[in-house]
Amino acid sequence: MTTLNGSHQHGSNGKVKPCLRVIPLGGLHEIGKNTCVFEYGDDLMLVDAGLAFPSDGMHGVNVVLPDTSYLRENQKRIRGMIVTHGHEDHIGGIPHHLKNFQIPIIYGPRLALSMLSGKMEEAGVMDRTILQTVSPREVVKVGSSFQVEFIRNTHSIADSFSLAITTPAGVVVFTGDFKFDHTPVDGEYFDIQRMAHYGEQGVLCLFSDSTNAELPGFTPPERSVYPNLDRHIANAEGRVIVTTFASSVHRVSMILELALKHGRKVGLLGRSMLNVIAKARELGYMRCPDDLFVPIKQIRDLPDRETLLLMTGSQGEPLAALSRISRGEHPQVQVKNSDTIIFSASPIPGNTISVVNTIDRLMMLGARVVYGKGEGIHVSGHGSQEDEKLMLALTRPKFFVPVHGEHRMLVAHAKTAQSMGVPADHTLIIDNGDVVELTPDSIRRGDPVKAGIELLDASRNGIVDVRVLKERQQLAEDGVITLLAVISTDGVMAAPPRVNLRGVVTTADARRLSIWAEREITWVLENRWSQLCRNSGGKAPDVDWVGVQREVELGLQRRLRRELQVEPLIICLVQPAPAGTPAYKGRADAEPDNRPPQRSRRDGGREISREIVRDGGRTATAASPTATAASPTALAATAAPVAASPAAVAPPVEDREPAGRTRRRRSAALAG
Ligand SMILES: [Zn+2]
Ligand SMILES: [Zn+2]
Repeated sequence: MTTLNGSHQHGSNGKVKPCLRVIPLGGLHEIGKNTCVFEYGDDLMLVDAGLAFPSDGMHGVNVVLPDTSYLRENQKRIRGMIVTHGHEDHIGGIPHHLKNFQIPIIYGPRLALSMLSGKMEEAGVMDRTILQTVSPREVVKVGSSFQVEFIRNTHSIADSFSLAITTPAGVVVFTGDFKFDHTPVDGEYFDIQRMAHYGEQGVLCLFSDSTNAELPGFTPPERSVYPNLDRHIANAEGRVIVTTFASSVHRVSMILELALKHGRKVGLLGRSMLNVIAKARELGYMRCPDDLFVPIKQIRDLPDRETLLLMTGSQGEPLAALSRISRGEHPQVQVKNSDTIIFSASPIPGNTISVVNTIDRLMMLGARVVYGKGEGIHVSGHGSQEDEKLMLALTRPKFFVPVHGEHRMLVAHAKTAQSMGVPADHTLIIDNGDVVELTPDSIRRGDPVKAGIELLDASRNGIVDVRVLKERQQLAEDGVITLLAVISTDGVMAAPPRVNLRGVVTTADARRLSIWAEREITWVLENRWSQLCRNSGGKAPDVDWVGVQREVELGLQRRLRRELQVEPLIICLVQPAPAGTPAYKGRADAEPDNRPPQRSRRDGGREISREIVRDGGRTATAASPTATAASPTALAATAAPVAASPAAVAPPVEDREPAGRTRRRRSAALAG
């Protein structure tokens, strides 16, 4: 067996023997992107791979994934993956990961894998792995070290499992997301007997869901929202609009049942709502007649009292159906005074502000909005303290690791375990990337592996790295200043810099900024030019324009920070001018505004050919030298590309920023 760093401990006989390593790469100190690695010897098994949604300040980021460097480095050892249930925070990352590393086979419940296969098809990775559905109590073998039994549990999505993982070090129970719901909507009961069976045999370690570890009592059963939803729908005078998580299959089932009961036809809005209902009905997790549904375009022809619209947007997601309706931007649905709008969900931490804003807008449009804890129209899918105690009582683990939750939830859960007799030194509170090392009689924290986040932008293809994110934050918070400098290949500022501000709040006027820019350019040319310019033997000098840009940017940045306490993003573009272009002296010494700038001619009066510029029959007369110096646009018309010889005729540039060439250069520099 190969020796892995930190994966071995010395046994009592002095021989090195492997231990079980459990490494969460996501899902700790946060809610979302649950991703967990199990390792024993040469075998590596993944449990779930979710995604999270961006927090404020992650501009343009659509999806947050865990850093998977560790998995990429160890992909040869990945034997397979286990999926516990179909929530985005457990399966959402898989299609992306399949583009980056090999997962030979994925085992999971039918509903989750059916949702996953849709996502994989969309991502074009259908052929990268095998999807293998499992039934309750089925046992699968992963590598030579893991045997995983799927134990039916109850959660807000149908077809959800806890796992009993038998390893050479002992049995680990991994709860997945759960609560104890003794009256499940779909009649699929929590397999408490099986859990107790493992408890009886001896559980080495319990990894348990901590989402509601701060809440006392049991989480109420899903059925408890039924009478309240029933009452609100019964009392509605006009249309009923309900929003909930599309993946809350039980909730959606009940809403459809109530629509049927109250003689309302159902219109569905939102892609995920349509997808999940189609999959759940196809697999038999939701039962209702086909004619309950009416396409959204036709539902307007029905009386309001006979319609119910079920849609996405319970989290205030800007593009979801209900959010668009609240902004009056939905092509098919407008709010009416008689509407009753029911929020059958509670905001995930971080979404609260967008949710309350949506509610405000809907109320301002005249709708009656039903929301909030007091209404009894939402219950969590995660167990509270008493559910967690029941799990601890059933499994009676030797060691305990709280997972799936923010730090304070993990701490609360650890306290609950201690109140039930799990010694404090048998409990580990860990972070993403920490390594839990388990032997039959010990638990300890090993050396951590690389963990962090990967951010995907709207295309879901590009990874937004930390630098890009910082630039976006800077843009959003302090705006951007672009600065166009015209510099000749022999190191002379050939025109006044042009400064543009976007979203920058400052007391300085454009003239002051442009004087500062001049000073920075002058300084760079006087002090840095020799380093930035390599003279390659008589020919045109080889100028590091990107270096020039960077020096000017840095200088101006420092000055703005010092003088104005602002930190906008600064983008300097350099338009190179041919050697010998007359120098623009600058206004740095506070000359009157209308005084024509002084010019000096270097190289003993060598003239640039600037009388006539021709291009494809069009003829433009270039500006006179005086006008040229005062106007960078006109001068730019005469500037030759750096690589070309100074004598070459430059292409004409109309009255716009001569930015094409330099901008490309800059983006090339960014890409590099
Ligand atoms: Zn879940
Ligand atoms: Zn979850």
